[in-house]
Amino acid sequence: MNRTQTFVVVGAGLAAAKAVEELRAAGFAGGVVVYGDERHRPYERPPLSKGYLKGGDELGSVFVHPPEWYRDNGVDLRLGAPVLEVDTEGRLVRTADGAQRYDRLLIATGATPRRLAAADSSGAPVAYLRAIEDSDRIKAAFGEGQRIVVLGGGWIGLEVAAAAREAGTEVTVVEVLELPLLRVLGPEVARVFAGLHRERGVDLRTGTRVASVERDGDRAAVRLDDGSVLAADLVVVGVGVRPNSDLAEAGGIGVDNGVVVDEFLRASRPDVFAAGDVANAYHPVLGRRLRVEHWDNAIEQGRVAARNMLGGELGYDRLPYFFTDQYDLGMEYVGGVGPEGYDEVVLRGDTEGRVFTAFWLRGRRVLAGMHANDWDAADRVRAIVGTEVDQSRLRDGSVPLEDVAG
Ligand SMILES: Cc1cc2nc3c(=O)[nH]c(=O)nc-3n(C[C@H](O)[C@H](O)[C@H](O)COP(=O)(O)OP(=O)(O)OC[C@H]3O[C@@H](n4cnc5c(N)ncnc54)[C@H](O)[C@@H]3O)c2cc1C
Repeated sequence: MNRTQTFVVVGAGLAAAKAVEELRAAGFAGGVVVYGDERHRPYERPPLSKGYLKGGDELGSVFVHPPEWYRDNGVDLRLGAPVLEVDTEGRLVRTADGAQRYDRLLIATGATPRRLAAADSSGAPVAYLRAIEDSDRIKAAFGEGQRIVVLGGGWIGLEVAAAAREAGTEVTVVEVLELPLLRVLGPEVARVFAGLHRERGVDLRTGTRVASVERDGDRAAVRLDDGSVLAADLVVVGVGVRPNSDLAEAGGIGVDNGVVVDEFLRASRPDVFAAGDVANAYHPVLGRRLRVEHWDNAIEQGRVAARNMLGGELGYDRLPYFFTDQYDLGMEYVGGVGPEGYDEVVLRGDTEGRVFTAFWLRGRRVLAGMHANDWDAADRVRAIVGTEVDQSRLRDGSVPLEDVAG
């Protein structure tokens, strides 16, 4: 392997960490430089809304590698060093400290929470959740007698609500749609999550919008369009993320809802790749481009990008996967319904007791599958996503999942 080559990674998150790990595992002996704008070495974000937010997980447990790993593996990790410019003609990245030449470049800049202007301009206590410091700040607002309002009933909002309730905090979740998680799960399964949170004492306000956020001393007053006013020690906004692709776009790299890459994670400019939350990648099995904002995707795309930076031709064809933990409900979801939607959801097991599997179908094809608290079923759920099944056998809970092929 050419020792004189230098591979540069912009962004020091999970995708970056897995990419550089793979470069070294594959025997790349050249220079590896990683730029991160945060002051932390790469870390996992899922604990920030779960174990770390609840206080059970130590800070040390969230990092992908121990600090010495970077030194031992010859990875030049430059933290607190935002890349300000990418020059694809000159093959350079620029920071406040100067320029760095690259032979291959990986954009792994992740995503940033969407801002809610009405909340930001209010002067009221408002938080978003992406980084360790955000999780610390939200955790500090938890406790008996404390009150938080969560705007947005998506994954982050619901996980924050669960952690806050477990700490005795009064929680209201405000969701514009009729159910939380409605877009991703559909009503059949979204209802289960709504029931779970209400049972645990969350004041779940659905089908309603925020009319205004105002400052009330050192607290917030959130006015909804139904006229009600919610007092809060902290407002947590979880209304989705946007990909950090401005840098790439300014460098002339093709961008459309993230950095556009082919199935090999190659961007529109020579020797530039993208992976993780920022990559809008062509998926050869689904036949469309997909930007996935999940942990598993960051890991696996990081690895595949690294192989392809070394000259490989590995197509990224893994189905999207994600997990959540809320109270005592753990779930894993594989696949995705896509823009054409589904025509049937098959639920098997005990939805009341929250030990069940769910499958989203279009005709005989299983578009997506999940399990809740049914860990033994996880592999079988994954195995039938993307296949065709006999719907009546799938609907019949007495037929084992391995016998539903159609
Ligand atoms: C609170 C939380 C909980 C989550 N829980 C789950 C979960 O339960 N299950 C699941 O599947 N997924 C979950 N996710 C999603 C998962 O964490 C992300 O998909 C994953 O972190 C994406 O990794 P990444 O490396 O692409 O981006 P990131 O982790 O965002 O890393 C990108 C890094 O690049 C930095 N950067 C950006 N621009 C520049 C620049 N110009 N120069 C230098 N550095 C730059 C960013 O600041 C960031 O540090 C969660 C996310 C959050 C925030």
